[in-house]
Amino acid sequence: MELLSTSARDLERAAEAIRDGLLVAIPTETVYGLGADAWNRVALARVFEAKRRPSFDPLIVHVSEPDGASEVADLSVPYAKTLSERFWPGPLTMVLPKLDRVPDLATSGLPTVAVRCPANAVAREIIRRSGVPVAAPSANPFGYLSPTRAEHVVAQLGGRVDFIVDGGRCPVGVESTVLDLSSEPPLVLRPGGLPVELIAEVVPGVQVFDRATTSPRAPGQLPSHYAPSRPLYLVPFGGVSGIEPRGRAAAICFGAESARAAERHGHWSRIVDLSPSRDAVEAAAALFDALHELDAAGFDELWAERLPDLGLGLAVNDRLYKASVK
Ligand code: AMP
Ligand code: MG
Repeated sequence: MELLSTSARDLERAAEAIRDGLLVAIPTETVYGLGADAWNRVALARVFEAKRRPSFDPLIVHVSEPDGASEVADLSVPYAKTLSERFWPGPLTMVLPKLDRVPDLATSGLPTVAVRCPANAVAREIIRRSGVPVAAPSANPFGYLSPTRAEHVVAQLGGRVDFIVDGGRCPVGVESTVLDLSSEPPLVLRPGGLPVELIAEVVPGVQVFDRATTSPRAPGQLPSHYAPSRPLYLVPFGGVSGIEPRGRAAAICFGAESARAAERHGHWSRIVDLSPSRDAVEAAAALFDALHELDAAGFDELWAERLPDLGLGLAVNDRLYKASVK
């Protein structure tokens, strides 16, 4: 593995590597992706191998310009054009009918393809220079925490990728919102970096996948995903201060609760406040960083409170739920 910078020369090397069928971890505004040429079946297979990802889990295909999506998907379905004009580049992935030329490995044999134009200048420049759409799942081993810094990728996948482009910290910090437009009504399969409330302004009848009533359509909907290796217990908003943790324990809080937890019990070894000003966007950006740090520190127990289910709070709660002990 070789670490690359964001110099023009290094971006050209990253693009060339993708053209050559190699695996390149790239920064996006959401999380780091493990990129490969979406037309190259061998490269796609290596993505699954590197992630130890079950082959049923389809990849997101990234394009450098919103218009580039028409190379892989049919954008004539209702709302697709309007959504791409309004929210791309950005943290929205649309599931659309796929064009025949997209390899089945990228879509796990589904008749649909997930496509996104990311809002990160480095990612877009690499994709543009490569001249191909870039299939990129999150650059983490399957089921483990998503990476929001190049160091996370080095630690988790360093031995299994060819290049890692260090573009610093990912500002959004949670994965993209996945919206399935191939079904009626459109369904949010995974809450993420684009708030559902904004999608609803364009798609009035949009539904959000509910794990209590619907069986999963996408592996990102599996109840356990993005998990740290230490047990994490999820409690309601404001619920951490009532907990008596055992052993060396750490708490993840949102605003005022961190002070209350510190007052009530002296025995939290560490308390992380995701956003002192109670801003769900800031909390999303800090989430995976906090989980990586606490996981590496080897606490006996991790406890986290849910956020209010508004805006990016929905995505943060979804990731915390998936990381938690059920
Ligand atoms: P990741 O690339 O790791 O952020 O995960 C991508 C998410 O998009 C996963 O939850 C996939 O299952 C989901 N996804 C990708 N392609 C499709 C598709 N064609 N239909 C439904 N979900 C998809
Ligand atoms: Mg992932």
